[in-house]
Amino acid sequence: MSKKGLQLESITSWLKADRPIIISGPCSAETEEQMVETAKQIAATGKVHALRAGIWKPRTRPGQYEGAGEEGLKWLIQAKKETGLPVTTEVANAAHVEACLKAGVDILWIGARTTVNPFSVQEVADSLKGVDIPVMIKNPINPDLELWLGAFERLNKAGITKMAAIHRGFSSFEKGPFRNAPMWDLAIELKTRIPELDMICDPSHIAGNRELISFVSQKALDLDMAGLMIESHINPDAAWSDAKQQVTPLVLGKIISELVARTVSTDNKAFKDTLSLLREQIDHLDDDIMSKMAARMKISEKIGQYKKENNVTILQVTRWEEIVQTRVSLGKAMGLDTGFTRDLLRLVHHESIQVQEKVMNNIEERV
Ligand code: PEP
Ligand code: MN
Repeated sequence: MSKKGLQLESITSWLKADRPIIISGPCSAETEEQMVETAKQIAATGKVHALRAGIWKPRTRPGQYEGAGEEGLKWLIQAKKETGLPVTTEVANAAHVEACLKAGVDILWIGARTTVNPFSVQEVADSLKGVDIPVMIKNPINPDLELWLGAFERLNKAGITKMAAIHRGFSSFEKGPFRNAPMWDLAIELKTRIPELDMICDPSHIAGNRELISFVSQKALDLDMAGLMIESHINPDAAWSDAKQQVTPLVLGKIISELVARTVSTDNKAFKDTLSLLREQIDHLDDDIMSKMAARMKISEKIGQYKKENNVTILQVTRWEEIVQTRVSLGKAMGLDTGFTRDLLRLVHHESIQVQEKVMNNIEERV
């Protein structure tokens, strides 16, 4: 039983494979030939533990390929027969679940556009009562940890214990280098809250292009994710969905073999000793940072008092701009990332304003 009260079995036990777990297959099953041929080539890499393919495709805009439907399930099962690999597909409602169970799909997953909707998640959970099948749950498209967590709770209440999380990144209006912003902090937060819940990463949907897949995959493994779900297609450029992010099975094999699998701990004594020395240094520095912050806030408090007596506003934009400018160039000269310096300053400034507000308006406790 996890801290959150979830009853979980690890992916390595229900998939009977070692970490890193690799799941691969096309974004969508398009034709029997494409599905089976892709599956055979993926299996031939000898590095993949389960096959994926979308049968019902939730498309953002209408008019795009929406999946083969039940016909496609037959191709997926054919791929399973020919490769011996377990198969997985996305379900979004009770009818999908029923069709998958009838066809013999081994593992189900709930897609990002479904995790956002508790009605749909509950419908899937209800349709799985009394069924022993693994279910993987992708993060919701919006960065809401509670929704993601809620989906695990709903499934678990229905009796599903073989679960895993899939981190596929989050939608945002601003377009960065990724199709879906990874927001690694959120994935780390879920892992921290429920350490027993295995998480795999979907670098294909995070990256949105094949060039970044290796980079995202390695980062995921370095964050101790249990495995990866990577889209692969015999002819990626001609794929009916997500063409830019799919790789051939050959490239898939290369990506996987170039990944460095690291462990969370080691018995190497020299390593442990050096690590604890370095951590001691970090601990001391953190103590320094905290006491400097406390001292800084005490001065903010005095400034607040002084501004109050002189009827001067808390915020003075020119002073704030000057702070950002000088600290950013100082940070740069010291080798600190500009984005990091800005984020840190924003946080400190925010707290400084709160402290001054308290003094100015005689607020006892922060609301
Ligand atoms: C997919 O896996 O092809 C898919 C539709 O993913 P997501 O739910 O992450 O968008
Ligand atoms: Mn896809």
